[in-house]
Amino acid sequence: MLTLILLILTVAGLLALLRREAGAMPILAMLGGLGLVSLLVSPVLGVLLLLGAAVVAVAGLPALRIQWLTPRLFAMFKRVSPKVSDTERIALEAGTVAWDGELFSGRPKWDKLMSYRDDGLSEEERTFIEHQCSVAAGMCNAWEIAKERADLPEELWQYLKQEGFFGMIIPKEYGGLGFSAKAQSLVLQKLSISETLMVTVGVPNSLGPGELLLKYGTQEQKDHYLPRLADGREIPCFGLTGPRAGSDATSLPDTGIVCKQVIDGKEVLGLRLNFEKRWITLAPIATVVGLAFRLFDPDHLLSEEEDRGITLALVPRNTAGMEIGRRHHPIGSPFLNGPIKGKDVFVPLDTIIGGTEMIGQGWRMLVECLSIGRCITLPSGASGTSRYALGWTGGFARIRRQFNVPVAEMEGVQEPLARLAALGYIAQAAVYQTANTIDRGEKPAVPSAILKSQLTEFQRIALSDAMDIHGGKAVTLGPRNYLGIGYSANPVSITVEGANIMTRNLMIFGQGAIRCHPYVLEELAASDSNDLPAFDRAFFGHAALVFGNAARAFTMGLGIGKPEVPFDAVAAPYARDMARLSAGFSLCADAAMASLGATLKQREMLSARLGDVLSNLYLASMVLKHWQEGDKVEGEAALLHYSCTHLLQRAEQAFDELFDNLPNRALAGVLRAVTMPLGRRWKRPADQLTREIAQAVSRDTLLRAKLLAAAWQQNDGVKDNPLARYNALLADYDRAEALYRTVNKAYAKGELPPEALHPEARLEAAREKELVSAEDAEFMRGFEAEVLELLSVDDFEYDEFATDKANILRHNAA
Ligand SMILES: Cc1cc2nc3c(=O)[nH]c(=O)nc-3n(C[C@H](O)[C@H](O)[C@H](O)COP(=O)(O)OP(=O)(O)OC[C@H]3O[C@@H](n4cnc5c(N)ncnc54)[C@H](O)[C@@H]3O)c2cc1C
Repeated sequence: MLTLILLILTVAGLLALLRREAGAMPILAMLGGLGLVSLLVSPVLGVLLLLGAAVVAVAGLPALRIQWLTPRLFAMFKRVSPKVSDTERIALEAGTVAWDGELFSGRPKWDKLMSYRDDGLSEEERTFIEHQCSVAAGMCNAWEIAKERADLPEELWQYLKQEGFFGMIIPKEYGGLGFSAKAQSLVLQKLSISETLMVTVGVPNSLGPGELLLKYGTQEQKDHYLPRLADGREIPCFGLTGPRAGSDATSLPDTGIVCKQVIDGKEVLGLRLNFEKRWITLAPIATVVGLAFRLFDPDHLLSEEEDRGITLALVPRNTAGMEIGRRHHPIGSPFLNGPIKGKDVFVPLDTIIGGTEMIGQGWRMLVECLSIGRCITLPSGASGTSRYALGWTGGFARIRRQFNVPVAEMEGVQEPLARLAALGYIAQAAVYQTANTIDRGEKPAVPSAILKSQLTEFQRIALSDAMDIHGGKAVTLGPRNYLGIGYSANPVSITVEGANIMTRNLMIFGQGAIRCHPYVLEELAASDSNDLPAFDRAFFGHAALVFGNAARAFTMGLGIGKPEVPFDAVAAPYARDMARLSAGFSLCADAAMASLGATLKQREMLSARLGDVLSNLYLASMVLKHWQEGDKVEGEAALLHYSCTHLLQRAEQAFDELFDNLPNRALAGVLRAVTMPLGRRWKRPADQLTREIAQAVSRDTLLRAKLLAAAWQQNDGVKDNPLARYNALLADYDRAEALYRTVNKAYAKGELPPEALHPEARLEAAREKELVSAEDAEFMRGFEAEVLELLSVDDFEYDEFATDKANILRHNAA
């Protein structure tokens, strides 16, 4: 009995000390003390504990281990650690590590997340979003833009330039709007009513000449270009991708050769560029082309080095040798996109962005800019698209009646409708809170990959759900179809700025494992510089973290030792469990890296699952912060529960699949037992939550209003606004529903003529029988007419869609 008590004391003490990462000395003291006591009771246990103490002394005390243990470990580490290429190193060094690093550590300090205070928007930003963005959104009709014009209307282009939409990131001193990241995001969300509009405004404000000049441009370049970019006199594009270099952009074969050329009788030192780019957004109309190429100096005109690396330059459109102006035809959305070719294009050296000092720095410059732009443009597009999709779909599902009830009342419809609402809610929180960290000085590299890939995937699901609920109404294209064109444009967001498959499988965990990990970067640096003491510190700090995470994950998995979290009672349980999952994640990340070594890079499916755990934890933490700081409205708690349950269930699913597929089966078993000692905790959101959410978003509720807040909702534009019309119908819905009930009940009872099949006919019959008042009948006539109008679809002349009208096949010529 005494032996058992001593054993329990040992295990509990060990777990408590490891959990706190208390260091070797307290563990040594505990094992030594309990070992000596055990010798009196159970010599076997005593000897085992004293042996354990000896091992801890040798491995845990730096003075001892550095003599013989660390050098051996160092040699082994050098053999198995992944080789980091120069390209990867640049990507790893770009941006900052913030809350993502906390999640990676396995002991997230929530106060750090909450310390990113949200100061909201300035008055000017608020007014711009309210007014200018509404005017711009109000000039868009998806069909007209996509099919009739294949461009935005001219007056919209003018308006965008005049109001400074292209200069949101350009500071005021250069004539730009100088908007915060949050404001840029909300602008793009409102403009997401049209994918073409969102991309047209988003791209110049994202990765491209504007941002590159701001960060790296010479003063002359800034003075010349920034005011011209801000007011739209210059339209920029940026050409990195070509036929040979897509995802692997650093393999670009485009060249710049340092040479001299005589211009106007003067010899000018410059570059001869030869390149072929494709898919370049805004290229067909761009006046200045940002270009990435590999710079060579074969005649050593600048330095002894011949291959100078990837370099960026700004080439004016009208430079001799440029072939520009043709268009590609992006699916669904006809934003301006096309190829650019250049043959022996000569440009002076001062076209290099940042001047000759920045030669060879092109890849670093691009990757650094990407950590901000990738957090904003496409994730905001995804969030904005989800808002509109939800607004339209909630409205449609309420007014579309089948089987005598609104389809919103059917559970089969409620399921995708609630999912659409929750994905939009998560996207809004994630993009806003991440933009807020940018406003607080962060350059979130790993979150940018998470947001880009996860939120555009959410957008894909949300649009599919919206399409499915709309049925034929959204399948039939024409001016009345507000959804179908955006739906078909979705693959653009999936593919650009790092295609999602690559981003999920390679980048999130691949970059995060080294970049966000508290020790791996230090270990690699120590290995590179052959610094044994630095390696010793990093490696054994790392070891303490691994044991600490195992103890934290295991004890929290058993429900022991709930961490303090700064959230209210609704949100706190999720945050507490995220601490458990974070500890488990950190442990599994280390275990995967240790067991697979350099081969983990090729085991993309495993890497993707680890990335999925991190992504879901990151998104859930954004939702919690958003909830905690925002004004809560009735019904929002259901959305919080749904969103967090959904994300944490996905995180556990990813753990499960990781354990199922880790090649080392014993390790997989241990990891499963430690991280989920009582099995999985999270299931898919309950049906009751689904019903509540679907009801709230398909009615005129505060929750629906909150979710649609950054969308264009007034019927005050040049073009019709179906969202405003749905909102108006929902505002009247309760009255209409009561009247539908009265009329339909009377019909079912046989009180109305059987041939009154149309709702309109039924209403008139009920009026005749004085079952409804004259006033109600008048209201209902208007309501029903508006419903029919919104449910209507377009039809066209027989030959409308054929571009080759001469050869059209006339099946019924008469
Ligand atoms: C409409 C549009 C607009 C664009 N705008 C611009 C622009 O303005 N400027 C510009 O420079 N470029 C632009 N691009 C290029 C865009 O960034 C690339 O399309 C994108 O980087 C992917 O390259 P790719 O299409 O050649 O795919 P590929 O590189 O051919 O990849 C094919 C598939 O393989 C996957 N894959 C590749 N490598 C890996 C890996 N290591 N692990 C796992 N999966 C992998 C990818 O995810 C993808 O699914 C645009 C593209 C489009 C379609």
